[in-house]
Amino acid sequence: MVAVLAGGTGGAKLARGMLDVVGGDELAVIANTGDDVEVYGAHVSPDPDLIAYALAAVLDERGYGISDDTWAVMDGLAWAGRDTWFRLGDRDLALCLMRTELLHAGLRLTEAHAKVVAGLGLSARVLPMTDEPVRTHVRARGRWRAFQEFMIVDGAAGPVEEVELRGVEAARPTPEVLEALAAAEAIVIGPSNPVISIGPILAVPGMRDALAEARAPIVAVSPFVGGRAVKGPTEAFCAHAGIAPSAQGVADAYADVIDGLVADEPVAGLPALELDTLMDTPEARERVAAATLDLARSLAAR
Ligand code: GDP
Repeated sequence: MVAVLAGGTGGAKLARGMLDVVGGDELAVIANTGDDVEVYGAHVSPDPDLIAYALAAVLDERGYGISDDTWAVMDGLAWAGRDTWFRLGDRDLALCLMRTELLHAGLRLTEAHAKVVAGLGLSARVLPMTDEPVRTHVRARGRWRAFQEFMIVDGAAGPVEEVELRGVEAARPTPEVLEALAAAEAIVIGPSNPVISIGPILAVPGMRDALAEARAPIVAVSPFVGGRAVKGPTEAFCAHAGIAPSAQGVADAYADVIDGLVADEPVAGLPALELDTLMDTPEARERVAAATLDLARSLAAR
């Protein structure tokens, strides 16, 4: 059993590679829910959904949403005068509505998302980090914004001044997350944004203890390729958090959590594997996942 901690983009790519290496029955992905948002009456979970779509090989080329989706509902909302700043394709929205209906019926977020994942035909588990609401808020240019508004309406315009994970104090890791961490032979922190994707997962009270108690080695993959973030506002958030955009910066940021690091440049102070970590093809995703698992296994053997 392999547990992968992930946000949307980089973490999802590694999770997809790991699926090809170990198979769905052996994979649990623990997903950030700090980006979740309620919109059009639906509970949208961008990171858990993006991971599920990547695993099911239906992720659209633009990096989120479902490929070949249609846009009738967004067109209808716009026609009715509703601002459609948050664009969801019809199938994407259908899955969100299914989750919302189950939440209203009293299921936990984990249970509701499991139905979405099963609906996509997956045997891998995609586990929200917590069932309690955690909402990432960002202050930039003197103004607080909910995360999706910061990203979409403000175009992620920084510099980032402050990040708040609202609700996190009352959150707890779910039984499913605790079980996955305890059962894992390897725990992998995917190449996701350390501040707003992995940060919220690690900030859930009890998560760091669960990681420390897990018998599996914990290995991270750096989200920096050639000293830059491949996509998204990782650099701006890391600058705010004082994390250098390098393998060493990632190693230092996770120093009290990880046993090893995979990156495309050398790093001091912990066991590391140096290789090209760009995952722009299925082969590259599988190669990076396999190498990461090898590093974890070599650490377990020590
Ligand atoms: P978000 O929730 O969509 O922001 O997704 P993540 O936090 O999971 O991913 C964002 C990070 O993924 C960025 O820091 C990117 O540098 C990283 N990333 C994207 N593609 C790759 C890749 O192919 N290789 C590596 N190593 N990192 C990647």
